[in-house]
Amino acid sequence: MDFRLSEQQLELQDAARRFARGELVELARELEEKDVSVPADMVRRYGELGFLGVNLPAHYGGLGLGHLEALLVLEQFAMISNAVAFPVFEALVGPARTIERFGSDALKAAILPQVIAGEATVAVSMSEPEAGTALTDLTTRASDEGDHFLLSGTKRWTSGAGHSRYYVVYTRLSDAPGAKGIGALLVDRDWDGVSFGAREQLMGFRGIATRDIAFDNVQVPKDNSIVGAGGFAQLMSAFGLERCGNATQSLGLAAGALEQATEYVQERQAFGKPIVDFQAVQLRLAEMAMQVEAARLLIYRAAANAAHSADGLPSVLDSSLAKCFANEIVRSVTANGMQVMGGYGYHKDYGMEQRVRDGFAWGIAGGTTDVQKTNIAAALVGRRFDQRR
Ligand SMILES: Cc1cc2nc3c(=O)[nH]c(=O)nc-3n(C[C@H](O)[C@H](O)[C@H](O)COP(=O)(O)OP(=O)(O)OC[C@H]3O[C@@H](n4cnc5c(N)ncnc54)[C@H](O)[C@@H]3O)c2cc1C
Repeated sequence: MDFRLSEQQLELQDAARRFARGELVELARELEEKDVSVPADMVRRYGELGFLGVNLPAHYGGLGLGHLEALLVLEQFAMISNAVAFPVFEALVGPARTIERFGSDALKAAILPQVIAGEATVAVSMSEPEAGTALTDLTTRASDEGDHFLLSGTKRWTSGAGHSRYYVVYTRLSDAPGAKGIGALLVDRDWDGVSFGAREQLMGFRGIATRDIAFDNVQVPKDNSIVGAGGFAQLMSAFGLERCGNATQSLGLAAGALEQATEYVQERQAFGKPIVDFQAVQLRLAEMAMQVEAARLLIYRAAANAAHSADGLPSVLDSSLAKCFANEIVRSVTANGMQVMGGYGYHKDYGMEQRVRDGFAWGIAGGTTDVQKTNIAAALVGRRFDQRR
């Protein structure tokens, strides 16, 4: 076992760090202030620099590296903000991966080069007003009309809605009940019958648009089928990488909070000395560091183990442990960061309160922490717990 990153991994991490710190700090402030998404020309710049193709195949324009490399890059972006990291998340660990894994060669060839170049982003629309944790209750329906599907239904909570060009839409594709009837289609924002609700006002996640999406008899070509009816388990089995990405968004925030707090407590004076000289402050800093390091190890382990697994993806157990832990610690690390910064921690100009607000979301998005714990227990005892019986 060797915990050191390779030369190549360190170089990539350093390139991402230099870019994120050099070019994204001001942008992150602007996205937060105006609640707008990363502008198209900057997403293209991410693409030109290779950040949107780290672990995507070279023949589509990616770098063809591993998932650990992808997460190293994502972490550096997320240290600046979740919003500037979001296009990287979507390309490297999110819905673009679903296309890469399950789409036809033609679909991959049509979409992935655009994603890698930063020409288009892909979002995922799973949740519905009446289907969140109980995702298999979803009612969006696509009927088979011979040469195309007709898609109707309403999705809730899609991150990137309106901003993203493409949507991986989980939908019923047959009359089979529950998971058995569910598959996924790829939908283009510009097609007739696709419309978006108002931008939701969330506690955090400014700079990442969240909206409902309504599909009203949208004609979806057969070529845009990603997974057919009965493919729900397949879609979920590939979700381990998304969980690791979600965990890495949490880790980046927490690591950024630790870095900021460490600098602050050495500069800020009270009673004639830097506040880091007070033991209570030292304890908080140490707690933060312990939690950040432990989360990082769980995430890196999940990604490193994936390289040795049959499907090349992080396992349910590894990724759930990493996600759940990182989702929980980001809440306490950022809260500790806010506490040691006193009134400045609570002030919008200093960034720490944003980390607190953004950090809370990750333990809800992509499956709540309580449900992750159910996955963890299921993996430990070797059987799934049926939530409906
Ligand atoms: C910031 C943000 C971004 C999101 N982005 C996306 C996105 O891009 N695409 C998308 O499709 N969705 C997205 N979501 C939706 C997200 O996946 C759901 O919010 C999440 O799955 C929970 O569903 P719910 O909100 O309906 O809560 P519910 O399912 O109603 O759950 C409410 C509470 O009940 C608990 N609970 C429910 N069932 C169980 C159970 N069986 N065992 C134990 N506890 C249980 C939950 O843990 C939770 O605490 C996003 C959500 C947020 C907040």
